[in-house]
Amino acid sequence: MGFIHLEQVTKMFNGSSRPAVENLNLEIEKGEIVTLLGPSGCGKTTTLRMIAGFEQPTEGIIRIDNRIVQDSRISLPPEKRGVGMVFQDYALFPHLNIEKNVMFGLNKWSSRKKKQRAIEVLDLVGLADYGKRYPHELSGGQQQRVALARALAPYPDVVLMDEPFSNLDAGLREKMRYDVTSILRKANTTAVIVTHDQKDAFAVSDRIVVMNEGVIQQVSTPKDLYRCPKNCFVAQFVGKTNLLDGTLCQDLKHVNTHIGRVCLPERMEKHLDHVKVSIRPEGCRLAEEGRYFGTVERVIYSGEYQEVSVRLPSQSETDVPMVIYVPIEQDIQVGQTVAFDISPELVALVE
Ligand code: ADP
Ligand code: MG
Repeated sequence: MGFIHLEQVTKMFNGSSRPAVENLNLEIEKGEIVTLLGPSGCGKTTTLRMIAGFEQPTEGIIRIDNRIVQDSRISLPPEKRGVGMVFQDYALFPHLNIEKNVMFGLNKWSSRKKKQRAIEVLDLVGLADYGKRYPHELSGGQQQRVALARALAPYPDVVLMDEPFSNLDAGLREKMRYDVTSILRKANTTAVIVTHDQKDAFAVSDRIVVMNEGVIQQVSTPKDLYRCPKNCFVAQFVGKTNLLDGTLCQDLKHVNTHIGRVCLPERMEKHLDHVKVSIRPEGCRLAEEGRYFGTVERVIYSGEYQEVSVRLPSQSETDVPMVIYVPIEQDIQVGQTVAFDISPELVALVE
């Protein structure tokens, strides 16, 4: 059994017509960093708050380290669950200096031990010299690290972070993704991080839990999530994709679509009549002798690549053109005819 275990967890808020979280089953291993990823309102914060003990599920069981912390009879308060929480707005006490903020959760310790631990965790988050400052004297990224230090101070088994990067601007955000993961690894804690941003999720996670409308859609490593999205929601929410209808060929290895035959990464086990196939734009490569060809309809330059819309001769006016990514060093003009191949590794059948 995982270190954190959620079994059939459902949360129905009073007065609401549908559950915020529905029949959620999830196991998280010790030392893992897992993110809950999904659009706003899909139940990420509610799930995190139920693990922490700030919210009681309507149904279900939550275990941490083989101990039931929540079921229909038991509901341990947050401080008895061995979890440290970092809130979205950091929730630092403005009138306390950084050291005192960090010592706040250590109330039963002797003052010498408290002080020693504060120095230790501030050192861990790279703020050893900031103990006497006040929150408003620190930058957003530094406040974020103080909040993390405060959560880590009582040696929690689990750290929970709600949208830890959302208040930071782009440059700092990238640095903090890196810093937060190295701090969590160094502290050797299990972490659950909530985010609506797939870049955050991909940068920090061992595994990603994709949620929509209170329901888990897929749990995978970042790589598998991108290569093998299970359903249309995941394929479209995580990155960009071309979704085509088709029928599986007799060989169970190809799909007939309106752009032609598309090869799958592996043989399917059984025949299916109607299927949907997701083709990642990264899997489409320009090639002179390419199997597919069409006319360039639009080029969007992103800096990292060119997003090129290609209309194939077999596509009608109402079909969405194929989107392929072309390296920025290649010159592409609207109206040009291009040929491309599709790499099967980035093709997936989706529900
Ligand atoms: P997320 O963090 O993914 O944006 P939340 O977990 O905050 O989503 O919310 C999930 C759903 O539950 C939303 O529809 C939200 O409006 C609802 N919700 C959240 N908190 C409460 C509450 N205290 N009372 C009633 N409804 C709530
Ligand atoms: Mg939220």
